[in-house]
Amino acid sequence: MLIAVGQENSFPWIERDAGIDFNPSGMPVVDKTTFQSTQPRVFFGGDAAFGPKNIIWAVAHGRDAAISIDKFCNGEDVRVRPGPLVNLVSQKMGIHEWSYDNDISGDLRHKVPLKDQVIALKSIKVEVELGFDAKMAFAEAQRCLNCDVQTVFSPPLCIECDACVDICPMDCITFTANGEEKELRGRLSAPAGEFSQDLYISDLLKTGRIMAKDEDVCLHCGLCAERCPTGAWDMRKFLLDVTHAGPACRSQK
Ligand code: SF4
Ligand code: SF4
Repeated sequence: MLIAVGQENSFPWIERDAGIDFNPSGMPVVDKTTFQSTQPRVFFGGDAAFGPKNIIWAVAHGRDAAISIDKFCNGEDVRVRPGPLVNLVSQKMGIHEWSYDNDISGDLRHKVPLKDQVIALKSIKVEVELGFDAKMAFAEAQRCLNCDVQTVFSPPLCIECDACVDICPMDCITFTANGEEKELRGRLSAPAGEFSQDLYISDLLKTGRIMAKDEDVCLHCGLCAERCPTGAWDMRKFLLDVTHAGPACRSQK
């Protein structure tokens, strides 16, 4: 069953003896992995499952619930589900060439052009936002930080020449002695104060130091990988292919 409830959750119409447990706030008790309620044949997703979130979460819930429903209908354990496919592929094309646009743009966000106020205020039917033209849309897209292209570090290749430290425009790479995280964050090239963002810490290098990188400020510009004489840094595109409902998600295919 698909239930669309908008932003308000209210389930007085579900009989309380239907086998679906509700918490004190009136929300159904739903498993966070399988989206199954305490009545095994009923699944919830989107705002109906865990309260208001955005549409991206609703789509993700729908996909995960679909896997559960597929397995349930085929008599399989809904908790046994394959993980997504994840992969990293090098974007290197030449010494200074990458398969993605790695130029750094210092532009501020481009403002969406608006209709003349005199015209816009005359009628409620006038569309106020005109949208970008092709040139402006392209310029705005150039501000993309390429968050899907990751900096990948290979400790055995590193000769600790510090060339990547010198070139990094954000000072986010440090070679130093390892330490307790809070103290280590304070003595990086640029102190890393955003605790919600993990540090990228390498294994021990030949000198006994580690490489620490503050992912929070990295621009994914690839200059570290261009400058590195040994290829210890590489820029690799992250691919995520989520599990799909259907034969591929079942144990018995
Ligand atoms: S990709 Fe750019 S910003 Fe990120 S660590 Fe390398 S040089 Fe620094
Ligand atoms: S430029 Fe390469 S070899 Fe030199 S310190 Fe950085 S990662 Fe190591």
